[in-house]
Amino acid sequence: MTQFSLSWGSFKDFISKLNKLAHNIKFKVEWKVDGKIAFLDILVTRCSDQLSFTVYRKPIHTGSYLDFFSYHQDKIIYSVATGLFMRALGICSPQHLDTELYLVHLQLSELGYPDWFLSKALSKAILSFYKNHNTTNKYIWDNKCITLSYNEYINTASKLLPKDQIKFTFNYPNSLFKKVVNVHKRTKVNKNPGVYKIPCQDCEDVYWGQTGRDLNTRIKEHKNSVKYAQENSAVFLHTYQKDHRIDWDNSAILFKSHCSFRRKIVESSFIKHFPNLNICIYIILPPAYVLIC
Ligand SMILES: [Zn+2]
Repeated sequence: MTQFSLSWGSFKDFISKLNKLAHNIKFKVEWKVDGKIAFLDILVTRCSDQLSFTVYRKPIHTGSYLDFFSYHQDKIIYSVATGLFMRALGICSPQHLDTELYLVHLQLSELGYPDWFLSKALSKAILSFYKNHNTTNKYIWDNKCITLSYNEYINTASKLLPKDQIKFTFNYPNSLFKKVVNVHKRTKVNKNPGVYKIPCQDCEDVYWGQTGRDLNTRIKEHKNSVKYAQENSAVFLHTYQKDHRIDWDNSAILFKSHCSFRRKIVESSFIKHFPNLNICIYIILPPAYVLIC
C-alpha cells in the first residue's frame, strides 16, 4: 500500500481543474481556524481525535427573529422558538447543548418572548425531537381546507371547529414585508427599443433616455448605477443630491422606434420641453427634423 500525499502546488492545480469543469460552478477552499470550520449551519470543532458540533452563526448574524408581539398566529410564534430549540437539539454535541439553548433563550427574550413561553416551547421541542418520527399525520383533512387572512377572531373560531373535518390555514396579506418588498413583482415586459422615461417619485423631474435594446435591460443598468453610486449617472446624482427616490415601476417606453436617429430627436425634444433630471444638454434641432418625427 502506498501512502498518498498531495503538495500545495498539486492541490492548487486540482482546484483549478475542478473549477474548469462547469463555468457556473466554482469551488473554494476553506481552512480550519483554531481547529474549527463551518459547514452550512454547523460549526465543527476538532479536539484531538474527536469532532464536536454546535450551531454556526455568521459574524453578521443579529438574532433578528420574529418579534413576540408581531401580529401573527400563535403557532407561528411558537414555531420560531421550537424551530430554534429543535435545531440546537439536532446539531449540538452534549457539551455544547446547554450553551446553545441558553443563547436561543437569550436572543428570543430580547424580542419579548416570556420565560414561560420559552419553557413551553423547549418542552415541546424536546418531545418532538425524541418522539417516534414514523407516526401518521396528526390531522385528518378529508380535503376540506380553508385558507383565510389571519384574524384573531377567526383564529379563535377555528379552534371551536372539529379539526378532523375542517382544516384552517392562514395567510398574511398585509405584512410589512409584503408592503415593502414585493419579490414577485417584475418590471413590465417591454422588448421594444425607443425613448423612455424614468420618473422621480418625489418631484416632477423625469429622466428621458433612448435605447436600441429592451427597456428592462436599460432599467437594470440605471438601477445598478444608483446602487453602485456611479457619479456619471444622472439618475444616481438626482437621488444623491436631492435625496429623492426613483419611481422605477412607472418607467415606460413612450416612443417606439428602431431608428436611432429618430429616437435621439424625440429624446432631445422631451428633454427640452419637459422637466428633467438629465445632465446632458439637449440637442438643438432644426424645426424640420422635429416635424419629421
Ligand atoms: Zn426628484
